[in-house]
Amino acid sequence: MSAACQITPMPVVVRIGPLIAACHSEVVLHADRLNRLDCAIGDGDHGTNMQRGCEALLAERRQLETMPLAETLVEAGRILIMTIGGAAGPLYGTLLMELGRAIAAADGAEDFPAAFTLAVDAVARRGKSRPGDKTLLDVLCPLSELLAQAGGSEDMPDRVAALAEMTVPMRAMRGRASFLGERSVGHMDPGAASCAFLVAAVWRELNGERGA
Ligand code: ADP
Ligand code: MG
Repeated sequence: MSAACQITPMPVVVRIGPLIAACHSEVVLHADRLNRLDCAIGDGDHGTNMQRGCEALLAERRQLETMPLAETLVEAGRILIMTIGGAAGPLYGTLLMELGRAIAAADGAEDFPAAFTLAVDAVARRGKSRPGDKTLLDVLCPLSELLAQAGGSEDMPDRVAALAEMTVPMRAMRGRASFLGERSVGHMDPGAASCAFLVAAVWRELNGERGA
């Protein structure tokens, strides 16, 4: 099933199966890098965790394709919570589940930026974190503002990569990396990095562009 959704200035049709395949490929491509980033300021498993979650989505993609978009997002979020594990699983899971609920409450995906903002707020509450804490919220929060103001950006992959890069000089205030205190400075946050990779993959898929 396809569903109308406005994630960029132009309304686009979301094809769930190819979208999941694109996210899976991106995470597999970058899993080692994500593990290395997590080795530096965490326990080295972020790429492995994200790959496990994406493999579970890929395995369920035929069923996920048969649902309306809002239900697909809620179910995908539930799968990610169960399979990614760690700190990131509940956060990515919350993002998708709350996005699905917000779209259902709005009776459609016409106002995607508003639904995305609600979902990001839910992630912040769940993680008790905010921008500047050196987490995936350092990508998600500016992204929700960008979507609300402009509906998107032509250079989205570069924009989100720059946001992840901005976590390098930050001191981690949440999660395992916060145990390092000042020693967390000088490393990119692995969750911000995975988030940037995934947003870029979604953006390219929705805009009909193949991987950079
Ligand atoms: P774990 O830390 O349990 O091993 P992962 O390595 O999969 O989990 O994920 C780590 C990432 O999760 C971090 O890089 C960070 O972006 C994100 N994270 C951890 N704790 C929080 C939190 N409280 N709020 C927001 N994001 C968080
Ligand atoms: Mg980890």
